Amino acid sequence: MKVLLVEDEPSIADNITYTLGTDGFECTWVATGSDAREEVAKGGIDLIVLDVGLPDCSGFDLCSEIRRDLDTPIIFLTARADEIDRVVGLEIGGDDYMVKPFSPRELSARVRAILRRTRGSSGGNGAKEEPDQASPVFQIDEGRCLIRYHGADLNLSRYEYRLLCVFIRKPGWVFSRDKLMELVWDEPEASMDRTVDAHIKSLRAKLRAVKSDVDPIKTHRGMGYALKENL
Ligand code: CA
Repeated sequence: MKVLLVEDEPSIADNITYTLGTDGFECTWVATGSDAREEVAKGGIDLIVLDVGLPDCSGFDLCSEIRRDLDTPIIFLTARADEIDRVVGLEIGGDDYMVKPFSPRELSARVRAILRRTRGSSGGNGAKEEPDQASPVFQIDEGRCLIRYHGADLNLSRYEYRLLCVFIRKPGWVFSRDKLMELVWDEPEASMDRTVDAHIKSLRAKLRAVKSDVDPIKTHRGMGYALKENL
């Protein structure tokens, strides 16, 4: 399995390259966006670990560029907490993110998990296939800020829409109330926890109105909420 690491800080890059290497990955390291483009053009890369702050471009722009042709999984590395909501909003097209400082072991575990998940579904050549739908029952129409559920347009408030987008893009992931607050609300500090609960409740009601026998959102007691897998 070939991993392309795009990271301009040599000490971080050394650490990651070493750890991925001991875990059996073949890791190629480049320090700039332009070198990354060259490597990507050569092909054969199974996953990209991409620093957001590169000397010659932003990791976000590079990701969008790569996404035009390829859906090779991308894990972002970011040093700034305020970038996380952009990363996790995943409008950029990333698959996961790590906030520096992080443990290279954990990164390696994420790399393995993502590859396990994606290798099964796409032929493995990274070529872009039909719209990559995280869930067969939901369709996100980003241009219209609209979500379809079992073919029916949901009439969602802004926060309900954002909440559901977060879930749909990461089926099975458990998001704590704090995390959802941070990802979805404009002024998280101004609101209280139960705002999340209230929106989940109204969201569930709207989903139930379409299909009454299924509750796609699972409550994990004491932890948060997740979209059920295999809907
Ligand atoms: Ca950097």
